[in-house]
Amino acid sequence: MNKPHEPALVRADVGVNITRVETIPLRIPLRTPFKIANGPERPAVEVMLVRLHTDQGLVGIGETQAWRRQGSSETLITLDATIQRHFAPHIVGHSPFALPLIMENLAASIYHSLYAQAAVADALYDLQGKILGVPVHLLLGGSYRDKLAGCAALSIKPEREQTLTGAQEYYDQGFRSFTVKIGVNPRDDEHNVRALRERLGDDVVIRVDANAGMDYDGALALLKKLEPYDLDAAEQLLPLWDVDGMAELARHVSIPLMADECVATDHDLIHVIKKRAATVMQTKVAKNGGLWRMHKLWCIAAAAGMRIFPGNHPATSIATASVLHLAAAWAGPLLEGPFAVGLSLLDADVVTEPLRRDGPFVHLPAGAGWGLTLDEDRIRHLRCDS
Ligand SMILES: [Mg+2]
Repeated sequence: MNKPHEPALVRADVGVNITRVETIPLRIPLRTPFKIANGPERPAVEVMLVRLHTDQGLVGIGETQAWRRQGSSETLITLDATIQRHFAPHIVGHSPFALPLIMENLAASIYHSLYAQAAVADALYDLQGKILGVPVHLLLGGSYRDKLAGCAALSIKPEREQTLTGAQEYYDQGFRSFTVKIGVNPRDDEHNVRALRERLGDDVVIRVDANAGMDYDGALALLKKLEPYDLDAAEQLLPLWDVDGMAELARHVSIPLMADECVATDHDLIHVIKKRAATVMQTKVAKNGGLWRMHKLWCIAAAAGMRIFPGNHPATSIATASVLHLAAAWAGPLLEGPFAVGLSLLDADVVTEPLRRDGPFVHLPAGAGWGLTLDEDRIRHLRCDS
């Protein structure tokens, strides 16, 4: 009987093997600095691209970020070391179609290395699509939709009018779904939500996000005050270790709760489900280990009756396309999540033709793999290791 992790199982394929793993660390400025609870203001995003080279000349691209917040301690240096020193020996010499074997071996080689795994998994999908000449969503079963709507993510601004002006600009572009950051000052939070509801009206969807920055008492008091404003969900108010606290909160307020930071692995999600600690789940390409593992989370969440909020840390078109392709092959409902937030926030992209946007919608690109081509000049300019 064949054993799991048996390389001989995956030799029968299309005759393309990976020859080299290339890591490309980038520092991409944000158009305006972004502030969340539980962390300093951020002037830039650190992005790690992974390029997998093959003996047939085809190259696959994946992306992760060193965003650093609760649940993520990665830096570009640690991502590079993990991928080059520990992952590359499990990748080089294999077929891109050995994705399940490779991902199992990466997980076994470094515990909880999801941020590093994400870029590899996605580069393997891109390669598979390019080898077969099909877009990634066809590898996932086919095409259900060709575009996905996102939400507007409103950062914490020093003045309320700045937040409202930002929201109005998004509204004028067609956005009807808004996530406003909370958790820095409860009094300001309530005023911000009320002002947004009054300015934008009853037809827009408003969610709040504390980025795990509150304690139980503060979160309960704030959510009670926010109950009259018809919020669709309140995202990760408590620290990621306090799933019991989330479950307790869920029983005391009428606002649905969303799990984000506390769901990295499928085991984390099962824990949240068993505790009934949230009814909405947010995924992110980097946080959850790339498309391969994200897809499993969507299946588990849907089976548990949870709503799915497709997210991302601020990312380039590459990681944004990963969510788009998964969504394209997903026939169930999806909320308008912040999966494309990077397209608005980042000052530069890394591809020759960034994803096409039309108000809140981001369109699925045509072409093999992700359907995207790296812009070599731009990458040289954004590299932060030279
Ligand atoms: Mg979040």
